Amino acid sequence: MTSEIRPKKLFIKTYGCQMNVYDSDRMADALAPHGYEPTPVIDDADLVVLNTCHIREKASEKVFSELGRLAELRAEGRDFLVGVAGCVAQAEGEEIARRAKGRVDLVFGPQSYHRLPELLSRVRSGARNEDGTLRAAVVETEFPQEDKFEHLPLAEKQVIRSRGLTAFLTVQEGCDKFCSFCVVPYTRGAETSRPVEQVLVEARRLVEAGVRELTLLGQNVNAYHGLDAKGRAVGLGELCARLAEIEGLARIRYTTSHPADMTDELIAAHRDNDKLMPYLHLPVQSGSDAILKSMNRRHTRADFLAIIDRIKAARPDMALSGDFIVGFPGETDADFEQTLSIVREVGYASAYTFKYSIRPGTPGADMDGQVEEAVKSERLAALNALITTQMRDFGRSVVGRTLDVLIEKPGRMPGQIGGRSPYLQAVHMAGPERLIGTVQPVLIVAAGNNSIEGKIVTHAERNPASFLESQELAAL
Ligand code: SAM
Ligand code: SF4
Repeated sequence: MTSEIRPKKLFIKTYGCQMNVYDSDRMADALAPHGYEPTPVIDDADLVVLNTCHIREKASEKVFSELGRLAELRAEGRDFLVGVAGCVAQAEGEEIARRAKGRVDLVFGPQSYHRLPELLSRVRSGARNEDGTLRAAVVETEFPQEDKFEHLPLAEKQVIRSRGLTAFLTVQEGCDKFCSFCVVPYTRGAETSRPVEQVLVEARRLVEAGVRELTLLGQNVNAYHGLDAKGRAVGLGELCARLAEIEGLARIRYTTSHPADMTDELIAAHRDNDKLMPYLHLPVQSGSDAILKSMNRRHTRADFLAIIDRIKAARPDMALSGDFIVGFPGETDADFEQTLSIVREVGYASAYTFKYSIRPGTPGADMDGQVEEAVKSERLAALNALITTQMRDFGRSVVGRTLDVLIEKPGRMPGQIGGRSPYLQAVHMAGPERLIGTVQPVLIVAAGNNSIEGKIVTHAERNPASFLESQELAAL
């Protein structure tokens, strides 16, 4: 049943993290039964949604300048509605409606996506000015009682297929940690976990439609504690075990984690669950105890290093990734040196580095000792140089090894296919497109700065000892 008659086109511009990518898809799913089809072309759109991110500087300025560009299109006669979603909408809902009056029709936070069809009806029936523009935007930034996931429709299988062989699945939202630099606890609210069965239903649907790899998402995903059918709270390790039972699912990943929630159960899952990939994004932010304390990170440098030791004991080949902030208030040269030294000690396969930026309303914003921009830039360059070297070394370290690669898509050159190693490295190789969706043993022959080249080998070539043994047995 569709409530709209003419098919309408939806254009969503997504800023920020994977959770926003997932949310944009779910918004599209919510609107699909109402006749909205996604379009990659803004000029075709009947509804434009900006799915915003509030994590770093100038987020709201970017939104206002985008709203200005959209207003120009409308002034040229293009007829479409404009919505602002995501964390900037949540944080600055009324302010956006006031400052962008006439340029925005709907402002809604991440907990209201299931209500999008109803909110659009409210927009359409809203009071209008003589020139047709709305007098005021509809603003919806409450944290409703109902569970949005129970009301969001699952995507049609062909829609899932069109999104690719790997999919995101949000299992946890919000955060109770209140790191002193971060807006997430304010924009995404208190930490909540989706019930196990709800996650499994969505995962099964994705896998039935052809998805081979799931990345479980959460602002603090390893704090997951969803209830199972018996009402028992289940941790992320057990959730991964349940997901691993789904036939056809080849790989499971999760992001982003907090060190304090790296439980023994989850670490053991990395040893016991073959489908859980050996790649972990575990941000430490700083290597200095004084800064970690002032960031309210709830762990010390030694705690973090001990966690890494436990992880490596369970899964020696674990590839590590992290987030780092340089120039947090009060950070001295000696503190920054501690960050460089923890990077050297851990050894990263990849990492994201940020200059501290003031987020109004967070404790960090009012702290003394704000660091000069030039110093932040210098520290960022030094950290990036170190991490770039480590990333290159990590890439080179797999040359000569045979890795399982999930073939995801055609390569850039004819006759080429591309996929990902267990360590999330992009690998390309010669091969037929019919292998897309399969996991192949690939001998890594070269590593460049951004991608890795491999050669598909047969299973027999991969395990020559057992191959020879089976040949000898066959000859008896
Ligand atoms: N939950 C994750 C954790 O505990 O590390 C991080 C989630 S946060 C959405 C992603 C990253 O953005 C953070 O790890 C941090 O490095 C960076 N970030 C957050 N607020 C920031 C700020 N005010 N300035 C610079 N970077 C920031
Ligand atoms: Fe932000 Fe992560 Fe800290 Fe939560 S744990 S406040 S999401 S940085």
